[in-house]
Amino acid sequence: MKKSLLILSTFVLFACGSGDNIELVAIGPDTKPSMTLERVSKPKAKNVILFIGDGMGPNQVALAKFATGGPDHRLSFENFPITGIVYNHSSESLYTDSAAAATSWATGVKTINRYLSVDAEKKLLPTIPELLSTKGFKSGLVATSSITHATPAAFYAHIDSRYKEKEIAKMLIDSDIDIALGGGQEFFDVPPEDGLFMIYDNTLLDSSLLNSKEQVIGLFAEDGFDRSLGTPTQLEMTQVALNFLKNKSQNCAGFFLMSEGSQIDWAGHDNNAQYMLVEFADFDATVQAATDFAIKNQDTLILVTADHATGGLVLQRPKGSNVRAQWTTGSHDLSPINIYAYGPGSELFSGVMDSTEIFDRILQALDYENLDSSNCIN
Ligand SMILES: [Zn+2]
Repeated sequence: MKKSLLILSTFVLFACGSGDNIELVAIGPDTKPSMTLERVSKPKAKNVILFIGDGMGPNQVALAKFATGGPDHRLSFENFPITGIVYNHSSESLYTDSAAAATSWATGVKTINRYLSVDAEKKLLPTIPELLSTKGFKSGLVATSSITHATPAAFYAHIDSRYKEKEIAKMLIDSDIDIALGGGQEFFDVPPEDGLFMIYDNTLLDSSLLNSKEQVIGLFAEDGFDRSLGTPTQLEMTQVALNFLKNKSQNCAGFFLMSEGSQIDWAGHDNNAQYMLVEFADFDATVQAATDFAIKNQDTLILVTADHATGGLVLQRPKGSNVRAQWTTGSHDLSPINIYAYGPGSELFSGVMDSTEIFDRILQALDYENLDSSNCIN
């Protein structure tokens, strides 16, 4: 009896490891490669836009590239002149979750998985938006998950569990974040305070209305977004946030915006390449729009990176005109991830780095040490 059970389990393992979870993904029509962007010679950035593709490992990037336009195609951020490689372990394990990874860029300190911007001893760690608000900066967050989800939350919440989302929602209301757009209506039950403008309807996602408000929280789903229900895209929300922050920071030192393609990770957990590609297309279009803004303004540093890779995605030898995309886990994997940089200060992001160094280098790009402690002149 025992022996036959053992044989059965060996067979199941073998079956899983020998070809299950392979999806055929059509290679896109050939496109001409676009041009690498010029380096921006200004040494100091005024604004920083940090794009996070949650769960976006190097093979997610490669699959999106092949599926969109074949091997010569370039995704928006593949035209950036500077690239680096990022290792991302948490303080306790080589495995990181989104909370510990986001804490590392938001605060420059490693912590335990699940913790948000507190260290392993639960001591509060100041975040980039908190540090910058004392220097007259405005800050914004965009996500296609709940805005209380791990990645955005690390920029304003200090708590020992990412799952305490009602408490995290209260922390957002009391935070230095000037505009936050995403999902998560179910976690917000506090009445809006003076000066806070809360919106729940896409039709109110309009810059001219929002620009007259002090602090904006837009919640367009109960929790994470479902595209079939007409939730706004990452592109739409990011353009509104960018416009708001540009407007609000006219007489300020600058702004910081984090925009997350949250569900690239969820597609990896689901081992679903088509879902991943839909999320990725929105992410890529969003980065392109921000890049157009940075090309025009030349004072904005754009960073594109991930917190970790998800799904153990391996791209196998093509079958006909299809890539064979093989998922090897339903969890995060330990692959290092890429960082792409464009704009003033981008040179700081070349080479191999730890995820905590992204925090250090962002502050360096802004010359944080020498910024005046001034508030905005309104
Ligand atoms: Zn995940």
